[in-house]
Amino acid sequence: QRLVILGGGESGVGTAILGKKKGYDVFVSDKGKIKNNYREVLTINGIKWEDETHTEKKILNADVVMKSPGIPDKSPIVKALREKGIPVISEIEFACKHTKAKTVGITGSNGKTTTTMLTYHLLKSGGLNVGLGGNIGKSFAWQVAEDKFDWYVLELSSFQLDGIVDYKPEIAIITNISPDHLDRYDYKYEKYIDSKFRITMNQKKDDFLIYDADDEAITNWLQNNKIKAQLIPFSITKQFKNGAYLKDNNMEVNINEEEFIMETEHIALEGKHNMKNAMAATSVAKLMQIRKATIRESLSNFQGVEHRLEKVLKIGNVQYINDSKATNVNATFFALDSMTTPTVWIVGGVDKGNDYSELMPLVREKVKGIICLGLDNKKIIDAFGAVVDVMIEVDNMVDAVRMGQRMTEKGDAVLLSPACASFDLFENYEDRGRQFKQAVQNL
Ligand code: ADP
Repeated sequence: QRLVILGGGESGVGTAILGKKKGYDVFVSDKGKIKNNYREVLTINGIKWEDETHTEKKILNADVVMKSPGIPDKSPIVKALREKGIPVISEIEFACKHTKAKTVGITGSNGKTTTTMLTYHLLKSGGLNVGLGGNIGKSFAWQVAEDKFDWYVLELSSFQLDGIVDYKPEIAIITNISPDHLDRYDYKYEKYIDSKFRITMNQKKDDFLIYDADDEAITNWLQNNKIKAQLIPFSITKQFKNGAYLKDNNMEVNINEEEFIMETEHIALEGKHNMKNAMAATSVAKLMQIRKATIRESLSNFQGVEHRLEKVLKIGNVQYINDSKATNVNATFFALDSMTTPTVWIVGGVDKGNDYSELMPLVREKVKGIICLGLDNKKIIDAFGAVVDVMIEVDNMVDAVRMGQRMTEKGDAVLLSPACASFDLFENYEDRGRQFKQAVQNL
């Protein structure tokens, strides 16, 4: 069988290694440049590859094609493959065919990484032989080739889910859904929602879907469609017999008539959104029968994830917070919502068709100054210019942080939560977050 892999990144190279091990004739093709370390891995493993070109003749000769999630369906090569009727699948689909391991699959617009890391932390602390993959760290396919784990916790983007045929997680989580990446879905929100729900399409009645019951896009979809998996809702406003919720100052998770209760103040993650992430992850831990004491300890010692409401330093009793991963308005909504002190907010970057109106009440209540950090700040200035006392524009992170220091006093906070993509001034959100932390260190 000829396996062609489009894209020589983490998922492509992982698939190539797994394919080779399973006896496929593998060829990797990347229109961009393949990184040196990946080139070496491919060569050492005797896998044929090309980069900075797509040799159509070879690609269209494939029996099956694995496409990296970064390559849009509309690209000419994918169109040509589809026209010829050659199956185009994702790494997750290819990998799941070659393992008996079970998976927890986690998708959503925001909170995927946090929920995935926390779930992994809970299961690993509980003694399970569990791996971590999908969009995080080493690719799932690569790990399947190494055959080390019985369970995997996978972070799954909608692009990964678009390329599945038979993949089914034993436990699925949909953290929430808000408009994102619509350029890849013909600007139709329904298509993006359907894509997220593909995570449930192969599930059976012994499987589970854990979902945010406060999320209208999710609850509407569930009302209008049938799924086989058992439903486990979580919510910060409602309570359930079978599900997770907040009551008084506790998080409660009720699964199969067994109750887990923990005071929210002992949960290391902060903010309402993170309570949701904690409820989702704890629901998985309960389904997997992890001991209560272990869950409790793991929730209280979880370190959080870099660039997500990451507390950097306190200087002169001003807290600096790095939320560079907030690349859309919804993520920033929860960041602002979690602020308990007057805040100077660093915002801006590449606009993704942002509508800032939902942030207005939070900005009025919590934000004392805004620092716009982007090449084009017009929309932000139009939205908030009349609402805050101070609003300035800067074009680099060092100035943003210095201005943040000047605009704050004891007890305040400086929050980087851009609500935008980073590509105007930075390489990516990690670069943006690291520059923020460096500038804070230098103060
Ligand atoms: P993802 O992997 O889906 O991008 P992350 O866990 O990396 O999600 O978080 C991305 C951003 O969204 C962060 O800025 C974080 O503060 C915010 N966030 C995290 N969890 C949630 C949630 N449940 N709802 C809304 N925003 C969230």
